[in-house]
Amino acid sequence: MANLRFIVVEEAFKKKALEVEAPKGRPSEYFAKYVFNREKMFKYLPLDVYNKLRDVIDNGAPLELSVADQVAAGMKKWAIEMGVTHCTHWFQPLTEGTAEKHDAFVEHDGKGGMIEEFSGKELVQQEPDASSFPSGGIRSTFEARGYSAWDPASPVFIVDDTLMIPTIFISYTGEALDYKAPLKKAIAAVDKAATAVCQYFNPDVKKVHANLGWEQEYFLVDEGLYAARPDLLLTGRTLMGHDSAKNQQMEDHYFGAIPTRVAAFMKDLEIQALELGIPCKTRHNEVAPNQFEIAPIFEECSLAVDHNMLLMSLMRKVARKHGFRCLLHEKPFKGINGSGKHCNWSLSTDTGILLHAPGKDENADLRFITFIVETLMGVYRHNGLLKASIITASNQHRLGANEAPPAIISSFLGAQVSKVLDEIEKSDAGEFASLKGKTKMSLDIPQIPDLRIDTTDRNRTSPFAFTGNRFEFRAVGSQANPAAAMLVLNTAVAEALTDFKTRVDELISKGTDKNAAILTILRQDIKTCKPIHFEGNGYSEEWKQEAQKRGLDCETSCPVIFDNYLKPESIKMFESMHVLKKNELIARNDIKWETFTKKIQIEARVFGDLALNHIIPVATRYQSTLIDNVHKISTTFPADEAAKLNVDNINIIKKISKHTSFIIENVQKMVDARKVANKVEDQRQKAVLYHDTVMPYLDSIRYHIDKLELIVEDEMWTLPKYRELLFIR
Ligand code: ADP
Ligand code: MG
Repeated sequence: MANLRFIVVEEAFKKKALEVEAPKGRPSEYFAKYVFNREKMFKYLPLDVYNKLRDVIDNGAPLELSVADQVAAGMKKWAIEMGVTHCTHWFQPLTEGTAEKHDAFVEHDGKGGMIEEFSGKELVQQEPDASSFPSGGIRSTFEARGYSAWDPASPVFIVDDTLMIPTIFISYTGEALDYKAPLKKAIAAVDKAATAVCQYFNPDVKKVHANLGWEQEYFLVDEGLYAARPDLLLTGRTLMGHDSAKNQQMEDHYFGAIPTRVAAFMKDLEIQALELGIPCKTRHNEVAPNQFEIAPIFEECSLAVDHNMLLMSLMRKVARKHGFRCLLHEKPFKGINGSGKHCNWSLSTDTGILLHAPGKDENADLRFITFIVETLMGVYRHNGLLKASIITASNQHRLGANEAPPAIISSFLGAQVSKVLDEIEKSDAGEFASLKGKTKMSLDIPQIPDLRIDTTDRNRTSPFAFTGNRFEFRAVGSQANPAAAMLVLNTAVAEALTDFKTRVDELISKGTDKNAAILTILRQDIKTCKPIHFEGNGYSEEWKQEAQKRGLDCETSCPVIFDNYLKPESIKMFESMHVLKKNELIARNDIKWETFTKKIQIEARVFGDLALNHIIPVATRYQSTLIDNVHKISTTFPADEAAKLNVDNINIIKKISKHTSFIIENVQKMVDARKVANKVEDQRQKAVLYHDTVMPYLDSIRYHIDKLELIVEDEMWTLPKYRELLFIR
């Protein structure tokens, strides 16, 4: 009898690529087909309503209910033409995904029938039952109300038969229960602070946008094989499995030809993403086998976050259509690269990117340096917090491993920018005084006028690298909501810019020339934030030692890293920038600890079950066949000959016993450790116990299971092996 593993492997081999039918026309014609964008607003709304809505979107004007009613009417008309029957508020709770609650468009018509109904009130605000979403105790269970409120800046879109309305999600008393609400506040804070600083250089600047361009990495696995791996199914990663003899040593997967089954999936995904208004641009293989990446053109930060969340759910859906499962977990396979979501971040005005090396214009040069230095100041002051914003139970497996940024935040700038900062730092205040009355800066910062950033000047070991016109935050995990990292980054930069402006203004008020004042403060800040600036190899052992000396946050325990959110300087930053209040931070941390505990708890349970129900029985069965063989040899041959013939088998029998008894004994110890941890009430303490006393068993037991995989007869092994999960198309 062939075992399940052999059947699913054979099936996976037989699968052919699906034919994907491309929509008629060019991408430019079907782009945003399912989005109620400006073009559709213009078509479906009366002109005055259209103009009012634009004012809401562009300038944050309040939305009156009468306008909302008319907007809803226009939306309904469009949606019904598109075959839509339901609508839902779509929001980003503090779990990993998105949430929605569908309501049909129907109402009683008062004459015994039904009419399609969708009012401005339904568009603007709903009250989903919030009790099933994590709130960290802000909302006690008997007060189940939470409000979702439309975010007009993020366009409404259609998925299948449903009109999706992007919203924020807040408690009855106004605390954020989601990612979007604080992200929008952080973006507003950085806009305010950056606009004020920009006005030193150009008084016409009225608005600064935060941008985000993410690069989404993922793995694909055949769905039959996936279904035969309970660990993948229930935890998103393989909790056991020996390395494949071939994995990524040859690095032949990166930029290699995309296999046809995968190419069909990618094509389908891109078409559907474009129809939803997600501006996908690049796709390629990644370093690990079966690993890929998709990246769009960058967008305004909050919209980019929505699009990333939407794309991740689309990826899961489209993958299933093609007979795959899409793995978004940061480390689905041990020993090969994990997946990240590089978040390319920049600030821009209507006139261009603020982090772009400008070249000829000295005024812009100084502005460029200002934004680089103050970004570093934000990252330096809050390096521990930034790490807290990206660390999770799953991403902790990726950070610090050899392919990912280390669990220490530092920033790489490249040779040219580093040199300019050095020059500024070394030049003395006397020189700046001589600037008085002059507009030309080039004498004082000689490198800038022909500063051309070489984009090949890259350091892939840096978690926060300057790449020519943006910073690339590489530590973000592949399945994370990027808003978590973006809200901290934007707030930190907002605080740094605000603080910068206060100090510059003070010098100006004492009679210092504006440019001299700016340079004086920049000089101080370049010195202050020096510890965060690191051009070397972020993977090296020496860097860990060095970072410790520099006072950077080097903590590696995930639940302890979360403490950064509650440090006085973090609370001060969030409160002064009006992004999150202390009670919200406390509640959100409880959710983080609880989520961490639950993840490890589930992993430990699945792991224990697999060890006892799959691994031990299979290993024992194989051991019995060997024992049978030993008996048969003993009865067939004379004793001394039999003894010789049995030497190898007896050794293997003993080895199996050694491994199985370790496994059985330690699974029990792991269960005991869990019981102790479960009794603890305090969420932080419980998470720390799970981290310190439960998690280590997953590794120590796994070692013995992976050894057994090498010993036990291939045909008996029930779980698909790495070589099958990773190389089948
Ligand atoms: P790489 O893999 O070399 O880092 P990719 O081309 O895969 O580069 O991805 C680059 C990402 O950076 C894309 O998502 C792109 O939209 C984004 N990006 C480019 N310029 C900016 C910018 N100024 N601000 C924010 N994101 C940007
Ligand atoms: Mg990148």
